[in-house]
Amino acid sequence: MSEVQWKDDRRSVWNRKIMNFYWAIVLVSLLADFVALFITTRYQVFDLSDILVLNMMIPFVIQLVIMGSSEFIIRWLKRESPYLIILTGTALSTVLIICNETVDGIKYLLLLPMIISLFFDKQRKLVFALVANAVVTTAFYTIKPVLLKLDDIYGLISYIFVMLGAFVILYELLNRGKEINRHLSKSMKSEQDLLIRTVIMDRQTKYDALTDMYNHKTFHEYLDNLIVQSDKYELPLQLAIIDIDNFKHVNDTFGHAVGDVILGRVSRVIKQAILSPDDITARFGGEEFAVIFTDKTPQQAFDTIERIRTQIETLSHHEMNGKNVTVSIGLASYRYGTGKAAIFSEADSMLYAAKRSGKNQTITQLQHTAV
Ligand code: GH3
Ligand code: MG
Ligand code: MG
Repeated sequence: MSEVQWKDDRRSVWNRKIMNFYWAIVLVSLLADFVALFITTRYQVFDLSDILVLNMMIPFVIQLVIMGSSEFIIRWLKRESPYLIILTGTALSTVLIICNETVDGIKYLLLLPMIISLFFDKQRKLVFALVANAVVTTAFYTIKPVLLKLDDIYGLISYIFVMLGAFVILYELLNRGKEINRHLSKSMKSEQDLLIRTVIMDRQTKYDALTDMYNHKTFHEYLDNLIVQSDKYELPLQLAIIDIDNFKHVNDTFGHAVGDVILGRVSRVIKQAILSPDDITARFGGEEFAVIFTDKTPQQAFDTIERIRTQIETLSHHEMNGKNVTVSIGLASYRYGTGKAAIFSEADSMLYAAKRSGKNQTITQLQHTAV
């Protein structure tokens, strides 16, 4: 899910919560009317139908119309404007103030849309709520000041002060929220940067930059571990050392840069041929590579290595005027309990034998015994 989509979804969830809250206000005010009616009718005699219609039904229907119109716009016209939700709050508060004029302090219900506007996280929405309040207050003041109990100048001034004071506090609250948000995203960003840097550094210490294979150091760490595992569980382990033939000549003839290209290409052939995730490839030295097989029989390892050798041999390099390079390979099988040095010196002497007896070939103990 994209971030924009996520934000839209969250906004819808919060809009729904606010609308449900409004519905709760409508129901609670109806309930309160019933309770008030119940109490007053015990002490006084009224024309019940008048009260029911005037004091309860009409306000309730008006509130239903307000909520219904908002729901219609949100659900059917799919317009979830924050302004609409704020205005719904202002309209509901206005109706409640008109219908409950006897209740002390009811005019401060107009603070509700201002508080609701905080959910939209924008100062502009708060200003909008304040302006809507100002319009309603002016209307009350000119039409029926008694409603807001604004008929005396002190009442009016204190009301304006409360409203403006609330506005300033809410405005600063939004600022504080933004500040925290900024701080949070800044620290999240630096944490992310640190993580990326750690991953990069980890790669740099583990991998060879030219071939993107494990480097010499990592290779030895893996081999150490694998030998311990192999001794413990008698797991098969083979080591192949692959050395490009006459590479000095390639550098001398075509230049070091071309040599680098060839190294990259040869390393790709090796990596692509080693399909098992349990096997490990590494750039062992300058123009030497190593492969550790952990799930193969000596014969399977030999076949894989031979496939690599022939693939490298058949590659022609346009940087070398279409010429090819070949590799010599020494392959050794680990004998349990003999340790790292033993398998190394065996692979090395097999490689030496391959070089001495004409290059471009794989030599392994297998050829002297099983094969
Ligand atoms: P042999 O068949 O006996 O292996 O001969 P060789 O020329 O391949 O072996 P030698 O050890 O004499 O030379 C290896 C060459 O590999 C010498 C060095 O310049 C070159 N080399 C080592 N690392 C790099 C590298 O990163 N880039 C390039 N371009 N050349 C490299
Ligand atoms: Mg070499
Ligand atoms: Mg070489």
